[in-house]
Amino acid sequence: MNYRPERLLIEKPVAENRLVQRILAALQDVPVDWVDRLKDDPTSRNGKVLEIVKFQGRFIKPCPGTRFYTCCGYQILNLGVQCFLGCTYCILQAYFPNPNLRLFGNLEDMWQQLEEHLQSSPRRVHRIGTGEFTDSLLLDPLTRMTEDLVPFFAAQPNAVLELKTKTTQVDLLESLDHRGHTIVAWSLNPSSLIASEEAATATLEERLEAARRCQEWGYRLAFHFDPLLVYPDWQNGYSEVVDQLSSAVDPGDIAWISLGTLRFMPSLKPIIRQNHPRSTILEEEFIPGLDGKMRYFRDLRVEMYGYLSRMLRNWHKDLCIYLCMESNDIWRESLGFDPAECGGLSDILDGQALP
Ligand code: SF4
Repeated sequence: MNYRPERLLIEKPVAENRLVQRILAALQDVPVDWVDRLKDDPTSRNGKVLEIVKFQGRFIKPCPGTRFYTCCGYQILNLGVQCFLGCTYCILQAYFPNPNLRLFGNLEDMWQQLEEHLQSSPRRVHRIGTGEFTDSLLLDPLTRMTEDLVPFFAAQPNAVLELKTKTTQVDLLESLDHRGHTIVAWSLNPSSLIASEEAATATLEERLEAARRCQEWGYRLAFHFDPLLVYPDWQNGYSEVVDQLSSAVDPGDIAWISLGTLRFMPSLKPIIRQNHPRSTILEEEFIPGLDGKMRYFRDLRVEMYGYLSRMLRNWHKDLCIYLCMESNDIWRESLGFDPAECGGLSDILDGQALP
């Protein structure tokens, strides 16, 4: 994927930043507009414009879990927002009315906040991901951020970086000195769903081949069956995904695998209907959860989690499998244990995180 925006919109206060200079050098023939302060442009087309702004907020934050569900203690490193891969269920469509990709140019603030954050709790294990408000590797060939992030995390005794992606853009990772402190993660779904609901992302085969390459370069891997989607033949579809996964990678190097069924704020529903009229993901029945998000009925969620976890455990019994945003009851019914019995989900994942 060779991303070339039609236009760059850059705030003047970040003009001298290294990231801006790097992008200008890579996109020399793309027109640039310099502005004092960027405004949202809801009328723009997703992917057409790349914005670089001075970010005024916190670069590192806890993942917005809720008190109603078992939370995993993940932290988000926010380097930019939006994505043009067009998944029908993508929450970013509702979070950000501005469809333009936006990068944060004041990276000196990001580095300072990240260092202070890690130093402020040196005994804690930090699991930090960049893939919450965008795809972690979507713009990496352009920004080359992994060239800075991966060696930085390699030098942190108590932190691990998770790069979550649906792309194959891993080439830059090959030569980096990661020392086991970067985990590369892919979301997985059956090929038919990828074609219909994740239109511009890499195919399942391509994702697994990229994962295999990363494993060859010594990286540990993670996989996210999230969102799990119901469709008429979902059991066979997901069973094939696990078969393909088991042929592609060595399970011993998998840090964790998450399972999470489709969930969305009610406000996303009309947006999905408008942006993706051919999507079938809204054809199921949903109920509101304690956090206000719509979910499949409880029995169906338990059935899907149980089915996936049995298949994964049949492949490798020691895989670390966890549920995203579910209650302890659902854990017990579908995985056979409550994370509280093992010290809590955060501790379980911390135990997996460091090399
Ligand atoms: S890859 Fe992730 S961030 Fe991008 S559209 Fe799909 S769900 Fe959204």
